[in-house]
Amino acid sequence: MTYFEGKVVIVTGASTGIGRATAELFAQRGAKVAITGRNAESLEITRQLCEKAAGGNADKVHVIIADVTKEEDTKRIIAETVNKFGQLDVLVNNAGAATKPGLPDSHYSRPLEVFDYVMNLNARSLIALDQEAIPHLKKTKGNIVNVSSVAGFKAFPHGAYYCMAKAANDQLNRILAIDLAKEGIRVNNINPGPVRTEFASAMGMSDAAKDWMEENYVKPNCPLGRSGTSEEMATVIAFLANNDEARFVTGQMLVADGGFSISSPPLPTQAS
Ligand code: NDP
Repeated sequence: MTYFEGKVVIVTGASTGIGRATAELFAQRGAKVAITGRNAESLEITRQLCEKAAGGNADKVHVIIADVTKEEDTKRIIAETVNKFGQLDVLVNNAGAATKPGLPDSHYSRPLEVFDYVMNLNARSLIALDQEAIPHLKKTKGNIVNVSSVAGFKAFPHGAYYCMAKAANDQLNRILAIDLAKEGIRVNNINPGPVRTEFASAMGMSDAAKDWMEENYVKPNCPLGRSGTSEEMATVIAFLANNDEARFVTGQMLVADGGFSISSPPLPTQAS
């Protein structure tokens, strides 16, 4: 499948997890990919995977070391991509985290510094990137896919900052979809449930703790009985970015969570 041949795709947060798998899939389907993140070593692994997926063509992969919470970096991501590849067809706003590195999990009792950072990373940075990208997307009738979360509409205890930021992400999606429809630009969100990536590690969770969560939290609460994989998220993102298959889809929140967000606790057994 080479649907994205001749197309240029930016994936933010491509150094690990969902972003890495997404960049690799776009490369496999023919796109030229600009991959961004802060960690040069991890991005190099993604670069190699993309190059291999692109049939060994190193020219189709461009690495941009950047922090999306910094406006000069968001400007540079778009400018460097267009400079390198000549156009922009798809912007995947994937970079995200639930807390600020070095600080505990986001919570309403945590410092407001954490709130500012989490809002910036998961919501404000999207506006910064979108503003720079839109003039280029107008030319290609391209589209935007944002990686939100079930946290955008479900309330997770102790997760106020992250849930608020992803809810903002979902609202931005709806509004931008209306504003940009007349330009022929579609905008959509994917809202993943639990996915086994570095996301929980960034909150300080060990692999053993992740295994425990999988057994005791995800399995009992997810109808499909497991966390999703980054590859499963990537195929949904590629669907939303496909201007043929998803041509009539805009402003949507596509939930990819194995049924996690629709399940309820079992009814209590009534005493006879
Ligand atoms: P990972 O931690 O594996 O990936 C997060 C990516 O974001 C990394 O590539 C990281 O790169 C990048 N990133 C983080 N902070 C910044 C920053 N300030 N500037 C630039 N890049 C940054 O987690 P996931 O793959 O799971 O996360 C991807 C998206 O999926 C996020 O938006 C997350 O909120 C969302 N999500 C994840 C779920 C899960 O259970 N895993 C569930 C629902 C949604 P680097 O460190 O190199 O900067």
